[in-house]
Amino acid sequence: MPTDIVLFGGTFDPVHNGHLIVARALAEQRGYERITLVPAASPPHKGAAEASGEDRLAMLRLAVAGEELFDICELELRRTGPSYTYDTLRELRSRHGGSANLHWVIGADMLEDLPNWRRGRDVVEMANLIVAVRPPWDRRLPAIWANLASAFPSDWTQAVLKQVVAVPLIGISSTEIRRRVAGGLSIRYLVPQTVEAYIAGHHLYHRED
Ligand code: ATP
Repeated sequence: MPTDIVLFGGTFDPVHNGHLIVARALAEQRGYERITLVPAASPPHKGAAEASGEDRLAMLRLAVAGEELFDICELELRRTGPSYTYDTLRELRSRHGGSANLHWVIGADMLEDLPNWRRGRDVVEMANLIVAVRPPWDRRLPAIWANLASAFPSDWTQAVLKQVVAVPLIGISSTEIRRRVAGGLSIRYLVPQTVEAYIAGHHLYHRED
């Protein structure tokens, strides 16, 4: 039986408890034994990360240390240039061949953008997309769907519709963490304590005065 590789990509600048809670909720709902976090070197859809890849990876390692559920894929950090999902899936496919089913978790916001992804059609052929939908995106889903239906074959959109998983709304974002650190505010309970200590110890996200 092929193993399931469930990939959860992001910038993780820094990783926060929202990421971890949502990934765990997904695993519980779908019965996944492992979620693979994939930090992007340079996400194509947004600006450069503030922390280096090395620091973001170190924080991810601290965040999931001792957690059976998580592992980390470093492929995108090792590549230079924009981190395209297509390239990552191709590398994983050539590494695992037919011994793995690849699943790629995306938020509803990213789903909306799928027609613009580099080789989006190939991405949807290579991986089973898992769409994590949190409020208020659940209300926007029909509109997103209509948009996708005009760009992708209907059998594919029907298949993706079955892969929608509702996840809780956790009011934490990396942007908020960076803003709080720059403003001298506490990030306790928003990130794992080990990550909080790393940010403080390495003076990440502090405003240069
Ligand atoms: P930023 O604020 O810098 O844009 P972020 O907090 O959204 O970052 P990313 O690393 O870009 O973090 O997110 C990786 C994935 O996790 C994305 O699919 C994103 O939608 C999802 N995600 C991030 N925060 C949450 C959250 N609080 N609840 C649910 N999903 C989240």
